[in-house]
Amino acid sequence: MAAQIIIVDDDPLVGGLTLDLLTDAGYSVRLLSVSLTAMDIIKAEKPALVILDILMPGLDGLTLLHKLKSDPETEPIRVVVVSGKSFEAEKQRAAQYGAEDFIEKPYDVDQFPRRIGELMKKQGAEPRKAPSAAEAPAPAARAGIKAVVWGCRSSSSAGKRTSCVSIETPSHLFVFDAGSGISSLGDELAKSGKHKDIWLFLTHFHDDHVEGLASFPCARDKDCTLHVSGASDPDKPLEQALKAAFGHSTPAAKVELYELMEQTYEILPGVRLAVFYANHPGTTLAYVLQTDGRKIVYCPDSELYGEHATALQDYDEKIGEICRGADLMFHDGRYTAEDYKKHRNSGHSSFLAAVDFAGKNLVKALVLVHQDAVYSDGELSAMEKEARARANERGYALKVALGREGLEVAA
Ligand SMILES: [Zn+2]
Repeated sequence: MAAQIIIVDDDPLVGGLTLDLLTDAGYSVRLLSVSLTAMDIIKAEKPALVILDILMPGLDGLTLLHKLKSDPETEPIRVVVVSGKSFEAEKQRAAQYGAEDFIEKPYDVDQFPRRIGELMKKQGAEPRKAPSAAEAPAPAARAGIKAVVWGCRSSSSAGKRTSCVSIETPSHLFVFDAGSGISSLGDELAKSGKHKDIWLFLTHFHDDHVEGLASFPCARDKDCTLHVSGASDPDKPLEQALKAAFGHSTPAAKVELYELMEQTYEILPGVRLAVFYANHPGTTLAYVLQTDGRKIVYCPDSELYGEHATALQDYDEKIGEICRGADLMFHDGRYTAEDYKKHRNSGHSSFLAAVDFAGKNLVKALVLVHQDAVYSDGELSAMEKEARARANERGYALKVALGREGLEVAA
C-alpha cells in the first residue's frame, strides 16, 4: 500500500519520532533518510503529504521542495517543512516555494500530530487505522501512576542504596535499574504478592545499577517472569552482561531478554518506550516511558553540560527534544555545582544543571537522583532547598524533589 505521508529526514532520531507519532495517529507513513533518491519514491507513491527536514546531506530540503513544486506530477502534493533551521529567511523561502506549513524543531509531540492531522483532513485523507491508545486523548479521570525511589545513591555503604525506581500503573510494574535498592522493592512485592510479570529496564552495567539483581526476591520465584531490557555492547552482549550480574545464582524466574538501541518501541499495547543514549562512560541508556497518558523519563547517569556547553556539545539540546514536556523526570543530580567542577567529564551532572534543564524543557516534576555517597543527609536537604530556590528564581513551572529511599511520587 502506498504511504499517505512520506517523511524525508536524515536524522534517525527525529525522523523516527515523527514516523512513530504519525503512525500512531493512524496514517501509513514512510521515512526516507536519503534526500537524493526521495524524489523518485515520492513520484511513485504520490502521498497526500510530504514532510521535509532542511539540513540534509545531498539535496537540502528547500531544494527538494522546489523540485517537487516545479514538477506537474508532484506539484499537488502538500509539503510541510519541519526544521531546526528556522531563520525568517528559511520560513519565507519555504512559503515562497509552496510549503503548506513550517514547523520548528523541536516540535511539541502532542501538538505535532494534531497539526498534521488538520492538514491531512484538508486533503481529504483520513487515518487508515484508529489512533493507538498512547496517542488518544487522555481519559477524563486519569488512572493513578505511582513512582517509588528504592535507591539512588552512587554507592552502597552505611545502609545507602543504589539505583532503582519502580513505576506502577494500574496494569503493570516497570522497574528501572537493579542497584541495591531493588531488594526493598522485592520485599514489598513478596509481601503483596502482586506483579508476577515484571518489566526491568537496565541503563547500563556499572555495579551501582545491577548489584541488587542476584538477591532480588522475584528472580528466585519460579512463578515470576522477568522481562529484562538493556543495551548490548559490541564486546559484551546483553546476555553475557546479565549472566555476570547474576553471578553464581541462577534465577528460578523465567527471564526474557530484550536488546535495545536508540529508538522508540511499543513494548505493550498502549505503552511506548523511547530509548536514548545518555552522556555517560560506556553504552548507557536512558528511558522515556509513555503510558496511561503520561510521559516519564528515567535518566540517572547523564552529564548535562548546561552553561558550560561548547558549540560542539549538543547533548543537552538532543535530549531536551526527547524529554520535553515530561510529566515526571528522574535525572542525575550527583554533585553540587562546586563539586561538579572537580568532576567534569565523568558522566554525571550538577543538580542545578538538571534543574535548569528540566525547567527549560517544560518538565512538570523533577526528582534528582544518583547523589554522591559522600553527602550527608544535611547536605542533601540543603541541595533540595537550593534546587527549589533555583526553580523559583528562574520562573520554571517545575516541582523539584531530591530522591530518597522510599520517596513516592504520583504522576
Ligand atoms: Zn554508571
